[in-house]
Amino acid sequence: MSGVDTRLDTSGWSFETLAVRAGQERSQFNEHSEALYLTSSFVFDNAAQAAARFSGAEAGNVYARFTNPTVTNLQERLAALEGAEACIATATGMAAILSTVMALMNGGEHIVASRSIFGATQQLFGTILPRFGVETTFVDQGGIEAFRAAMRPNTKLVFIETPSNPLTEVFDIAALAGVAHAGGALLVVDNCFCTPALQRPLQLGADLIIHSATKYLDGQGRVLGGAVCGAKALTEEVFKFLRTAGPTLSPFNAWVILKGLETLSVRMQAQSANALAMAQWLEAQPQVVRVFYPGLPSHPQHALAMRQQASGGAIVSFEVRGGREEAWRVVDNCRLLSITANLGDTKTTITHPASTTHGRISAEARAASGIVEGLLRIAVGLESPADLQADLARGLG
Ligand SMILES: *Cc1c(COP(=O)(O)O)cnc(C)c1O
Repeated sequence: MSGVDTRLDTSGWSFETLAVRAGQERSQFNEHSEALYLTSSFVFDNAAQAAARFSGAEAGNVYARFTNPTVTNLQERLAALEGAEACIATATGMAAILSTVMALMNGGEHIVASRSIFGATQQLFGTILPRFGVETTFVDQGGIEAFRAAMRPNTKLVFIETPSNPLTEVFDIAALAGVAHAGGALLVVDNCFCTPALQRPLQLGADLIIHSATKYLDGQGRVLGGAVCGAKALTEEVFKFLRTAGPTLSPFNAWVILKGLETLSVRMQAQSANALAMAQWLEAQPQVVRVFYPGLPSHPQHALAMRQQASGGAIVSFEVRGGREEAWRVVDNCRLLSITANLGDTKTTITHPASTTHGRISAEARAASGIVEGLLRIAVGLESPADLQADLARGLG
């Protein structure tokens, strides 16, 4: 490719600048906005070049299951934001998790995971991977010691989400990296809720970061996507699996997410500020038993969250009195908040986890994760908190 290579010397750039500029390589047209290369394959100059591209002797694009310039642009930008050596984009967040496991694990090996991870991740680890000889021990409570106790000689990955979904439990990334490394395992952090705008797990000792780009990285609820970030030696293995097995991100989705990254920092700051306002308001409502938000001093890991994250993030969960009936009443009275399981959008969403996102896991597992019937989760967007409060007040009243 010709044109100005704006990837030169990004070393001194701050997060905000990287989010707007990193990874862009202009074509011969010198376009200002990132080009969308909606092509599945690439043409070679001659037979020798085709052979060299296929063998890897010459760098360059071959086929979009392997690489595509728009996807590469996204990967470089996200790697820069996470402070990672490399990033591999995937079709969805779940594809990122599956590809990581398939790339780095063998049958007979073991995962230690926090119980409070995304419902589909629990399903994958708990019901699908055992068919291939990969077992998972879920850690319910007991903090760092419980993770240490769950380690086995064949443990390959320690997998956490922080803050967790939906209870916003915060895990000490540096301490868990120590536990994982002492046992010869890798620490994998699902950084979906914070994004690199609020939290950089690699700097705290994590080995790999998982993203559901579907959430805040896109930021406007348009496309599905995922990513794995970390040292090149690890992401190369993920890439080998991806190019063969095919859970690749489409160039169109990559382009949408790339443009989403440009506003990530301002969105995360504004949505976190709105979430704090909502959490404070909810805590003052008599019908609310408890609010789960890392930015509130009442959160059990508030101090850790404030050390590890730039703010509390945009997810607030709360328990209403009266169980499922009252929780559903709040949901059914919403006219502004969207009733949807998605999160990470500029539009605020409300979810009843026990009957939706966590509905497929067993009642015992749900109880162990603390997903009670009165629990609601809001993913706070960019609307005015006053309007959101008026909407919730109708159902709470
Ligand atoms: C949504 C989500 C995922 C899965 O991502 P998809 O893009 O839906 O496959 C994984 N982890 C967390 C924390 C999520 O919220």
